[in-house]
Amino acid sequence: RGRLEFSDVCFAYPTRKEAPIFQNLNLLVPAGSVMAVVGPSGSGKSTLVSLLLRLYDPNTGLITIDGHDIRDLNPYWLRSNIGTVSQEPVLFSCSIRDNIAYGVLDPNAVTTEEIHRVARAANAYDFIQAFPSGFDTVVGEKGVLLSGGQKQRIAIARALLKNPKILLLDEATSALDADNEFLVQEALERLMEGRTVLIIAHRLSTIQNANAVAVLDQQRIVECGQHTELLSNR
Ligand code: ADP
Ligand code: ADP
Repeated sequence: RGRLEFSDVCFAYPTRKEAPIFQNLNLLVPAGSVMAVVGPSGSGKSTLVSLLLRLYDPNTGLITIDGHDIRDLNPYWLRSNIGTVSQEPVLFSCSIRDNIAYGVLDPNAVTTEEIHRVARAANAYDFIQAFPSGFDTVVGEKGVLLSGGQKQRIAIARALLKNPKILLLDEATSALDADNEFLVQEALERLMEGRTVLIIAHRLSTIQNANAVAVLDQQRIVECGQHTELLSNR
């Protein structure tokens, strides 16, 4: 379960009807596979994400998960079955534990064991007692400055706890320093295991572990194939 499909999707932003972003976009991500979408800036990668998260709906065409039109799905079901890790991890003014549990329907029902399990898998266990810095007034404690990679590992622990069918990695490793890139990469690989994954990336080099790569340009998918094929075509 977790097959994702965009079928003949046409979309223009309401403010720019004259300039459609997608014209008959088709993309199939089989359940449990890893699909990367690459494309130059302005090619519509963020728009694709917005459509999947239903910030906008297509003008025509369909987006389906396991054959269900996402417009017919319960919004809670949709939100809890699409996990996102993006370039800028979002942390909230609360403890790391609460940051990991953030967004689950009933945070109080989450056990300490579960939090520790996902924190370990995300390589975030070592600093689980810390408070993100900048929130001193809110948490009444001296905040700890977390590195970009540590914040990213907290976001990964949060996604692991949610246990979504579909995982959206939006430039998830593009803003990291070499220092902790391995720890983030390892955590991401654990998160990807057994899920349908859509990776959004600028560079082909960041997506070696994808089963297939779709190249987005000029309002549609212009090429789709294996990573090695696409590299050798260039
Ligand atoms: P990418 O993520 O690949 O850089 P985007 O999806 O952000 O591409 O942008 C695709 C096109 O849509 C661009 O021409 C951009 O200017 C336009 N665009 C993005 N967001 C909006 C918006 N909210 N309203 C109108 N046009 C937008
Ligand atoms: P079911 O017991 O049939 O899985 P739920 O009561 O869990 O249904 O469904 C809640 C919402 O989630 C419904 O809108 C249903 O259509 C949707 N849903 C359930 N399973 C899936 C799935 N595998 N893919 C897409 N949508 C689903």
